[in-house]
Amino acid sequence: MKAARLYAPGDLRIEDVPKPEPEPGDVLVEIELALTDGTDLKTFRRGHPVLLRESPAPFGHEFCGLVEGHRVVAANSAPCGACDGCARGEQCRELSFLAGAYADFILVPARIAAVNLHGVPAGVAPEVAAMVEPLACCLRGVARAGIQAGDAVAILGAGPIGLMLAACVADAGGWPVIVGGREERRALIEAFGAEAGDGRGADVVFEAAGTEQAWADAVELVRPGGTVLVFGGLAREARPPIDAYRLHYEELTVRGSFHHTPATVRAALGFLASGAYPWERLVTHRVSLADLPALFADPPRDLLKAVVVP
Ligand SMILES: [Zn+2]
Repeated sequence: MKAARLYAPGDLRIEDVPKPEPEPGDVLVEIELALTDGTDLKTFRRGHPVLLRESPAPFGHEFCGLVEGHRVVAANSAPCGACDGCARGEQCRELSFLAGAYADFILVPARIAAVNLHGVPAGVAPEVAAMVEPLACCLRGVARAGIQAGDAVAILGAGPIGLMLAACVADAGGWPVIVGGREERRALIEAFGAEAGDGRGADVVFEAAGTEQAWADAVELVRPGGTVLVFGGLAREARPPIDAYRLHYEELTVRGSFHHTPATVRAALGFLASGAYPWERLVTHRVSLADLPALFADPPRDLLKAVVVP
């Protein structure tokens, strides 16, 4: 079968590889389509401390596919159920991540298939169903931020994650404002329940840009006593310049949110199926697997998410 494999930052190749052989409990999914996301772009550009540990590495983690004629989606991990984090009801400390969605087939291992593989509800387009993983991360972020009805919520980053976060915030009763969205994104920002604005003095600020500057900006923007939710991951050695005065004297709360849980994966699938927001508008491009390396090498300026068809 054909599969994209990442040899090193900037070196993505489409190659013939053996079709995976499922062990008992594993599920072999025939990929209908995969979606690009910001993490994949980041990994392509600079590598990734967790996702790119071998070379060549399988690549891509948002997908919708078929199993015996039935349309399914799966998240790219599952909690181990045995670690300290799992025992405390916190994020699992032993997550390992499934990749390889840019391919003809992907093998969903038994651990993930048991809890995070789901049939796609009737009427949900495959490119929308494939958004279950990033939307599940956003739902976890909104839960961890403790959004209250009426909260003014600033979101730094107008990419697909920023727009999904806006929808989740609005659904939780908050008032999302997206900071830094270009003018041509305005219609989309409103379609996802948000306004464009500067976010100053917000009750809650989401950092969803994944830069040290955005972490610092989030701490600048939030009101005294407010909450900053750091959502975008940074390189391990990053030390963002956070205003210690504000943290201490203005009693800010800074919380992290990472990844998703089986509960938010299920909730995300329901949210997508609800049709409450025009999820399909997050897909701006469509490429074949063969054209994927060129897309990553020179992403179009207006790229949100691309459908990748094997
Ligand atoms: Zn665990």
